Amino acid sequence: MEIKYSLKRSRKRKKTLSLQISSNADITVYAPYFTPVAEIDRFVEEKRKWIDRTLRSQARQIVLPQEKTYETGEEFYYLGRLYPLEAVFDPLENTGVSFRVDRFVLNCPDKREMKKYYFALWYQQKAKEHIPVRAEHFSRELNLQPRGVRITSARSRWGSCSQDNSLAFSFRLMMAPPQVIDYVIVHELMHIRQKNHSSKFWRLVIEAMPDSFAHRRWLREHQDMLKL
Ligand SMILES: [Zn+2]
Repeated sequence: MEIKYSLKRSRKRKKTLSLQISSNADITVYAPYFTPVAEIDRFVEEKRKWIDRTLRSQARQIVLPQEKTYETGEEFYYLGRLYPLEAVFDPLENTGVSFRVDRFVLNCPDKREMKKYYFALWYQQKAKEHIPVRAEHFSRELNLQPRGVRITSARSRWGSCSQDNSLAFSFRLMMAPPQVIDYVIVHELMHIRQKNHSSKFWRLVIEAMPDSFAHRRWLREHQDMLKL
């Protein structure tokens, strides 16, 4: 596919070509005054991958920060996979979220805040079952003893390690793949040895878990989707 761009030539420009993408996806090429069109086209073609990537991530940002509606068919992450929701209300059954192999079922009156509350509660319960067990496992493996492990509702931090080595993890982590959850646990445990993000710290983390950076990237790329 041909890339459409507008061209701005400048007499002041000496040799370099440059390319910009505006927030509404318009592409502009800045070129020295006498640069041949063929050369400009070649330059744009060379940038195709970067252009595609940038446009795609822009599109994602526009679509993403939607609030959950908790309606039937909406998808929710659990351990890194998306499952559709079936929203019902049967007053004779227990209210709350249950997970049925391939979908979530939420039994609750049709009030958004209430639905959100039950989902948070469900993830919190899963986190309490899953995270302390994994923390215990890595604590033994790495010989790092935390003072305690808590589950929090933190929105912006996945985990933390206090001065006295108490670890805390957000229940939202249960939306991430198991290996990513493990990475956050190893990361926070390693803060027992290093209370900073120095290169020494990262070396220890990578040593304990060689895929750490891939897991970290997954979290960064999905953070907008791991919300209630
Ligand atoms: Zn850290």
